[in-house]
Amino acid sequence: MALNLYDTMTREVREVFSMDGSSVRFYACGPTVYGPAHIGNFRTFVIQDVFRRVLETSGQKTFHVRNLTDVDDKTIRQSQEEGVKLEDFTDKWTARFRKDCDLLNLLTPHAEPSAVGHIPEQISLIERLIEGGKAYRANDGSVYFKVDAFPEYGRLSRLADREITTSETDRESSDEYERDTAADFALWKARRPEDGENFWESPWGQGRPGWHIECSAMSMKYLGESFDLHSGGVDLIFPHHENEIAQSESVTGKIFARHWFHIAHLMVEGRKMSKSLSNLHTLEELDQKEYLAQEVRYVLLTGSYRQPLNFTFDSMKAARKALSKLGDFAAKFDFHPSSQDGLETEFGPFYPVQEALLSDLNTPEALGRCFRLVRELSEGFERGEYEGRDKALEEVRRGFQATCDALGLVIAPSGNDNEEVPAEIRELAQRRWDAKQEKDWESADRFRDELLAQGWEVKDGKDGFELTRATA
Ligand code: AMP
Ligand code: ZN
Repeated sequence: MALNLYDTMTREVREVFSMDGSSVRFYACGPTVYGPAHIGNFRTFVIQDVFRRVLETSGQKTFHVRNLTDVDDKTIRQSQEEGVKLEDFTDKWTARFRKDCDLLNLLTPHAEPSAVGHIPEQISLIERLIEGGKAYRANDGSVYFKVDAFPEYGRLSRLADREITTSETDRESSDEYERDTAADFALWKARRPEDGENFWESPWGQGRPGWHIECSAMSMKYLGESFDLHSGGVDLIFPHHENEIAQSESVTGKIFARHWFHIAHLMVEGRKMSKSLSNLHTLEELDQKEYLAQEVRYVLLTGSYRQPLNFTFDSMKAARKALSKLGDFAAKFDFHPSSQDGLETEFGPFYPVQEALLSDLNTPEALGRCFRLVRELSEGFERGEYEGRDKALEEVRRGFQATCDALGLVIAPSGNDNEEVPAEIRELAQRRWDAKQEKDWESADRFRDELLAQGWEVKDGKDGFELTRATA
C-alpha cells in the first residue's frame, strides 16, 4: 500500500517510495529556537507527523530527520537582549519545543541535528562550492553562492513564472531579507560587531554560517547526497529550499531530494499566523484558556494540508465535541489505547480511513469516514451484534487503534455511569498514565491528586486506566 502525495517539484501527486527499499528517508526543516513555536508552525510539524504515521501504519519504515535552527539573526539578537549565552538561550527554547511536541503527540525524529553542532560540515560544503567555482569570497570575508553558476536555479519555485530575477547581492542582507530576494545568497557571514561572541573560525576568517547551508549540510550528512523526501511550510519553497537545491546539487551533481512536500499555512482572519503579525497562538496560551493540546492537533487535521486553514475558537470547541464522541465510542467496547511499541497496522473495518490518508494525506476525508464508521459500529454494538464474536471485536479494536495511531490521537473511553468524562480530565489522566509508564512516580502522584481534587478517581488496569467519580 503506497502513499500518494503531491510533489511541489513536478506539480503532481506521486507515489512516495523508498530509494533503498527499506525505509523512507526524509528531512523536515525544523524550528528556529528563539521563542515558543506557535500552532501555525505546529500545523507543519503535525502534518509531517501524520505523513510519517501513515507510512508506518501501512507497514513502511521511516528515517526522519528534523533540524534545529539555533544560530541566525533572531536567536543571536534575542539572546543578547536577554543577556544570556546563545547556547543557553537556544537550549531553553529547544526544551520548550520538545515539550510542546510531546503534548501534541508528535513522534520523535530519528535524528535532530542542530546548526551549531554542525559547523565543520557546513564549512566543508562551502569549501567544495568554492573549489567548484560555485561560490566566492567577498572582501569582508563573507562567502556567497553564485546563483548564475547554477542554471537550474528556480526549478522548484518556477521563478521564471514569478518574474523574480537574480540581482547583485546585498552584502548587509539579514536572514529575513534573504527570504525575499533571488540575489546571490550568503553561505558564510563574516563576523560583525553586533554578533558579539557568536562566531566561529573558518578558512575565510571569523564568522557564522548563513541560514540555508545548514539544511544542505545536515540533510546530506544524515540521509546521503540523494534522499527520498524533503518537507517544510510553503513559505520555505523560496528561497530556502531553492537555495538548498542549488548548494547541494552544485556539489554532488545528483538530485538532492526526490520528492518535495510543502504544507499550506495556518491563518488567522485571512492572514498567515506569524510572530511578525502578532496574531499567533501557542499551546501554553491555549492551555491557560483550558484548551487541550489534543484539541489543537485535531483542529490541525480538519483541513487539507494543501489549502490554508483558518484557525477559530469555534473549531476548537468542535474538536472537543468530536474527541469526546470518539471517547464514547471507545467506552462502548472498553477500548483502551495500546501501550505497545510501534504503531498498529491492521485497519480492518477502518480501511476506508487508511485509504483516504494514503490518497494525498486527505485528513478531513479520513476524519469524516472515521465518524461514519464509528456511528455504524456503535449501532452494531447497541444491537448486540458483537456479543460472543471475539474475533470481529478484535478487528474493530485493532482498526480503531490503527486509525488513532495514523492520526496521532490518543482516545481513552469516556467514563462509566453514563457520565461523560470531560476531555481535560481524560487528558490529565492520560498524562498520569504516561508519567507512570516512564516511572516518573512523582508526576504520576501529582496528577492523581489533581484528578482527585477535581472529583475523579483513576484505576489502572493492565493496558490502561479507568476514570470514575470519586466517592467522598
Ligand atoms: P521557523 O521556526 O520560522 O523556521 O518555522 C518552522 C516551520 O513552520 C517551517 O516549516 C515553516 O514553514 C512553518 N510555518 C511557519 N508559519 C506557519 C504557518 N502560519 N502555518 C504553517 N506552517 C508555518
Ligand atoms: Zn531548512
